[in-house]
Amino acid sequence: MIATGVAPLRYSVSVPAPDDGSTRARLGMLETTHGTVETPVFMPVGTNATVKALDPDDLHEVGAQMILANTYHLYLRPGHRRIERLGGLHRFMAWDRPILTDSGGYQVVSLGELREVDDDGVTFRSHLDGSLHRFTPEQSIEVQQALGSDISVCFDQPVPPHSSARSVVADATRRTHRWAERCLAAHDRPDQALFGIIQGGLEEDLRTESTQAIAALPFAGICIGGLAGDETAAQRRAVLDVCVPLLASDPRPRYLMGLGSPADLLDAVDAGIDMFDSVLPARVARNGTLWVPEGRLNLRNARFLDDPAPVQDGCRCRACRSFSRAYLAHLVRADELLFYRLATCHNLTFLIDFMARIRSAIAEGSFPALVREQAARAAVSDGPTEPAA
Ligand SMILES: [Zn+2]
Repeated sequence: MIATGVAPLRYSVSVPAPDDGSTRARLGMLETTHGTVETPVFMPVGTNATVKALDPDDLHEVGAQMILANTYHLYLRPGHRRIERLGGLHRFMAWDRPILTDSGGYQVVSLGELREVDDDGVTFRSHLDGSLHRFTPEQSIEVQQALGSDISVCFDQPVPPHSSARSVVADATRRTHRWAERCLAAHDRPDQALFGIIQGGLEEDLRTESTQAIAALPFAGICIGGLAGDETAAQRRAVLDVCVPLLASDPRPRYLMGLGSPADLLDAVDAGIDMFDSVLPARVARNGTLWVPEGRLNLRNARFLDDPAPVQDGCRCRACRSFSRAYLAHLVRADELLFYRLATCHNLTFLIDFMARIRSAIAEGSFPALVREQAARAAVSDGPTEPAA
């Protein structure tokens, strides 16, 4: 067993990647201030200190081990100092398990016309009321420390991976390295871990440089940022095949930010990633698309209005235990609030159970077989299982 880190975070790899090179998938245990998380893990996103439409009981029932909250959104509303005065983010949202906060870098840099990046930080306008704000590495750490998440991450400058010029990527990557050192210097909350972020776009040499720069610093974990954007799956895998081998003997957890479809997660686990987050399963659920082993169902399709079957046979979720496709198809058409809850419960359960299956396969040494099985299934059921209504 390889272990790293001291309190507030300890990561141990219980099943390392096999020596035969068939996969870099590995099984691990992340011990945080608010409990233990098995990896590979998917973290649902609670943007505004809530995973949309779910309460903490629902989150426990779907099996969420850890969730993500957005620093940018909570800084603007209701304000990190208010949350701190009210006892911190865990108490505020009544979630007693681990929380990871992002740095706000992705949101403020994505604001486009509303922001200006310089070497010291980012000046941006609130998407809520147009008011002017400034984030620096120190400010991002201060907000995350006030929120009191178990894991904080560095303030970085992500750029769209596919559509950015090399000089833009190079500047953003080196700025991210300078900011990483400032985040480390600013961070002093003893019960909170800090992760560094690798950037570098799709450029092999910049990814190599960034991986070496971030891995050289004493972070508790390593994020791979600037992916899950406008790149193809093959481009993303190529970047992971640069970064992860450089971290092969590094025992810290690896977190790929922003990825959320089952096929993408499977490939990234195979590439050696331990942690994931995405709004995707909840967002598509709210739009009426539910994931099933065969693909996806669009509940807005008229044929479900008379279908008495559950969304997925054998699914343990709240929606599938009690309700039919017909009922859910009715709720989504009537724009009923209950639909958002039931649909989100199903998709998060689907993805969290998929991750549990991945962990079982790694433990049994059958992960490469699971990858082949899923690829064969995708080839057979390629295209929507549910034609557009
Ligand atoms: Zn279900």
